[in-house]
Amino acid sequence: GKTQQVLEAHNVHVAFGGIHALSGVDMRLDQGTVLGLIGPNGAGKTTMVNVLSGFQKPTRGSVVLNGQDVSALGPQRLARAGVGRSFQAARLFRDMTVEQNLTVAGIGTGRGGRAAARAAAEVLDWMGLTRVAEKRCDALSYGDERRVSIARALALHPAFVLLDEPASGMNDAECDALMHTIAHIPERFGCGVLLIEHNMKVIMGVCQRIHVLDGGRSLAEGTPGEVQNDPDVRRAYLGKK
Ligand code: ATP
Repeated sequence: GKTQQVLEAHNVHVAFGGIHALSGVDMRLDQGTVLGLIGPNGAGKTTMVNVLSGFQKPTRGSVVLNGQDVSALGPQRLARAGVGRSFQAARLFRDMTVEQNLTVAGIGTGRGGRAAARAAAEVLDWMGLTRVAEKRCDALSYGDERRVSIARALALHPAFVLLDEPASGMNDAECDALMHTIAHIPERFGCGVLLIEHNMKVIMGVCQRIHVLDGGRSLAEGTPGEVQNDPDVRRAYLGKK
């Protein structure tokens, strides 16, 4: 079969003035898996997603895609290279329909219109969103808006998709349903998923591996079982919950 793709952070530092958001983080995301990214508030999770998707240049260190340094690429070029993401706030074009948002995104990353429309329809169908395909985005329910944001990322057929708290603001039932969907992304789309999520129980059920950040540093990385039993993690993270 195809070679498995890998997205890595090597010794990534990000400083905002005197604030060290990330201080020497190594991370590895493999195609075909879900990697959880957890840590207390301010740990650096969103900054890490911004770095991996080209929205934030590391102060030091590099982002490496399949062995190639891609640190200099901006978000647009990284998206074309196969690194997609969703945002904490959905960032959809509010006066366009759901279907149009997905199609425009596909065209923006270099697809032809028909291929982009086909990819959009497939992803909407898979996510149970065909019922809102013709709806304008400003008429969507909150939960549908969050799901459409993920669908838009998937419609670009990325090798990697980075999801920053996709279930924030959802109720328990919506969250469970979304996590069930996310768990199946690798087998359906063949991509690697990086998932930021605050609920430990949720993340333990969905991820093959988990990376724990604390104060801009890596605290632990391993399987859910390994991370759950890590004394540093229990002290720094679980103890506060
Ligand atoms: P949360 O769970 O609260 O979303 P997080 O783990 O995602 O937190 P980040 O948002 O990455 O953490 O923030 C890490 C640190 O960097 C925090 O101290 C934050 O205040 C700071 N920070 C993030 N972005 C900026 C910025 N643009 N300018 C200044 N400081 C920033």
